[in-house]
Amino acid sequence: MSSVFDDLVGQEHIIQILQSAAAASRNGTQTQEMTHTWLFTGPPGSGRSSAAVAFAQALICLKNGCSACSDCNAAKTSGHPDVEVIRTEGLSIKVEEIRELLTRVAWAPSLASWRVVVMEDADRLTESAANALLKAIEEPGTRTVWLLCAPTLHDVLPTIRSRCRHLQLRTPSIAAVTQVLINRDKISPEMAQFAARASQGHIGRARFLSTNATARSNRKTIMQLPMKLGSLASALEAAQILLNIATEEANTTSETRDEVEIEKLQEAYGKGATGRGMATGGSKAVKDLEKEQKSRATRMVRDSIDGALVDLATFYRDVMLVQAGSMDALINSDLSAEIEKCAYDTRSDASTNKLDAIMQTRTQLAMNSAPLASIEALMCRLA
Ligand SMILES: [Zn+2]
Repeated sequence: MSSVFDDLVGQEHIIQILQSAAAASRNGTQTQEMTHTWLFTGPPGSGRSSAAVAFAQALICLKNGCSACSDCNAAKTSGHPDVEVIRTEGLSIKVEEIRELLTRVAWAPSLASWRVVVMEDADRLTESAANALLKAIEEPGTRTVWLLCAPTLHDVLPTIRSRCRHLQLRTPSIAAVTQVLINRDKISPEMAQFAARASQGHIGRARFLSTNATARSNRKTIMQLPMKLGSLASALEAAQILLNIATEEANTTSETRDEVEIEKLQEAYGKGATGRGMATGGSKAVKDLEKEQKSRATRMVRDSIDGALVDLATFYRDVMLVQAGSMDALINSDLSAEIEKCAYDTRSDASTNKLDAIMQTRTQLAMNSAPLASIEALMCRLA
């Protein structure tokens, strides 16, 4: 029998916990024991929000998350009145947004036994937003279950995390990701193996790489950059290439989504109508949405740059491995000739320094440094 938990790759250790918690919550006498606040942590791509959504489905489905009934489907597509999935478009979740959310979820569930709120980026709560949320969490007798997601435990305020049941997701093994790509996405074994390795257990990225030729060619261009850093001019050029690719990749994804969202919103307000609805509420709503989309686009470009830097780091990681005398576990086996050459041409302490430089640049970018200047400085250090 299929289940909403089938899509969670390499997370057997928590599926068991979630399944029994969902089953117990259906037993009316045990509602007192139900944990109302859960925290899902795990590295990017491990599927922490997929795990939270699957648990939300299991909590409202009458068959413990069968993945086939209308409740399961509605919960997954944000169409269930008792399930709310909060995805952050901006860089932070503000207190006004939490207050508005709290008024929405204050009522008892309409159909299910629980009202479930999945918050995909609990690490982006501002301090005042987190405090507002804390009050709601502490309220006794509530029938709302909070499923918070964050990269690590330390990304959430101690006051909140101390009230959560914590579940730590693992990075799925390369073999597990390869199997999923072959079985579920019907990818050829060679391609699946390559994509799983190159994306280091990040399932979404692995699927994207294995199904998208442009993504593969972009990755190749970025991975060739270390061989082209002969002079200052070429280092600056490499920075521009990396930035262009990352921006283009992020924009391609967001433009299609932006258009669909605007279209939907205009429909909701009666598109084409010149009545008062569109004139007053409608155009303001469209403007608000455009503003949100702009801040999301900024965030996606930053994420995309970070992804490119992670890729680049794997190159120097492989170089270090070869310098240490091992060729077996290369992440970038498609570049083994280039990696070997680099390993013989440079010293191993230089590789360590380069890897450090990449990690420092990632930290700076996460703290909002200017992308072009940071990447240019990095490329000069890698040259
Ligand atoms: Zn179901």
